[in-house]
Amino acid sequence: MNTNGTPDLSAFDGIDFDEAERRNVVIIGTGPAGLTAALYAARANLEPLVFEGTQPGGQLVTTTDVENYPGYADGVLGPEMMEDFRKQAERFGTDLRHGSVTAVDFSERPFRLMVDHETPILADTVIISTGASAKYLGLKNEQRLLGRGVSACATCDGAFFRDEHLAIVGGGDTAMEEALFLTRFAKKVSVLHRRDTLRASQIMQERAFANDTIEFLWNTVVEDVLGENAVEGLKIKNVETGETSTLDVTGFFVAIGHQPNTELFKGWLDMDETGYIQTLPDSTYTNIEGVFACGDAQDHVYRQAVTAAGTGCMAAIDAERWLAEHGAIDGVRTQTEYHAAPAEDSDGGMAVQG
Ligand code: NDP
Repeated sequence: MNTNGTPDLSAFDGIDFDEAERRNVVIIGTGPAGLTAALYAARANLEPLVFEGTQPGGQLVTTTDVENYPGYADGVLGPEMMEDFRKQAERFGTDLRHGSVTAVDFSERPFRLMVDHETPILADTVIISTGASAKYLGLKNEQRLLGRGVSACATCDGAFFRDEHLAIVGGGDTAMEEALFLTRFAKKVSVLHRRDTLRASQIMQERAFANDTIEFLWNTVVEDVLGENAVEGLKIKNVETGETSTLDVTGFFVAIGHQPNTELFKGWLDMDETGYIQTLPDSTYTNIEGVFACGDAQDHVYRQAVTAAGTGCMAAIDAERWLAEHGAIDGVRTQTEYHAAPAEDSDGGMAVQG
């Protein structure tokens, strides 16, 4: 985006779109929202083209147990669940590709997209399901020591810290879940929270309080991350007393929430002040006709895998209806037809309604 707030189209300079591949539906992102949108669009014979982005499977591939996704009675590992999502979308003909959409031009239809800065794609509709990413505190040494003791993903990096003293900042469900996970490896986990009450759900609080390996340092903020080549400690401050001290830890996990991955769409789409894409009530329509948004890129309230999947389904149905209304495809299917589309590997029999 330019400083005057208008989209920057320089990425398209000199790019020839005459021979570019043109698709009915391009889906950006492969978390629960994107892959559910792909499943529904594929079953509508729209042959969706899906770009996986930098983290195929989205945030759930960095999590361990998912216990609250309906249908998995015994829980499931996040990466396994996303593998199931992917396979199901592919069964119906989803065209899943490596790569990230790096520039968009929504000024006219078909929309112009650039993939990995070099491949032009034309899209009649675009479904945005780019999700959200972990936030950091913004300390200089936090970024310098990222991957060298600083991490925003306990499930990815926790096992590197066996029998060590670790700290985690945050008071939400993520912080509790990750603190609990870290106790599998660490000898001690200090949870640093800036207030004296947690934001986390009751059940997660109770689990964390019941774990002897976890200590809580209330009203505490992190002022600096210490260490030359690896984390050697934290400079912390009690905001009630003003007292500063050093906490001797060798790993520092940040779990203070997420921000939507919507930078690419700034200047095109209406967003709230934190960057969540705004959609029209009860739909996934954005302010640009033919562009739909779903999942954590658009939802700052629920942010659950199941709600992301739900809005992904909505986006695919919205895109299908929009294409039909604009004459790009023949008619809108009936409710029965939604459920009856056979998988590519089926014998063509009527599917059980889902
Ligand atoms: P949340 O926004 O819920 O919590 C973020 C936490 O980080 C808050 O305690 C907040 O403090 C703290 N924080 C934010 N910014 C800073 C800062 N600059 N410095 C210090 N502390 C800061 O994010 P989560 O990622 O925890 O959860 C997001 C959503 O996902 C929630 O709806 C949650 O319920 C859900 N979730 C559910 C899980 C489950 O059910 N198993 C697991 C993980 C997430 P403060 O409280 O003072 O604002």
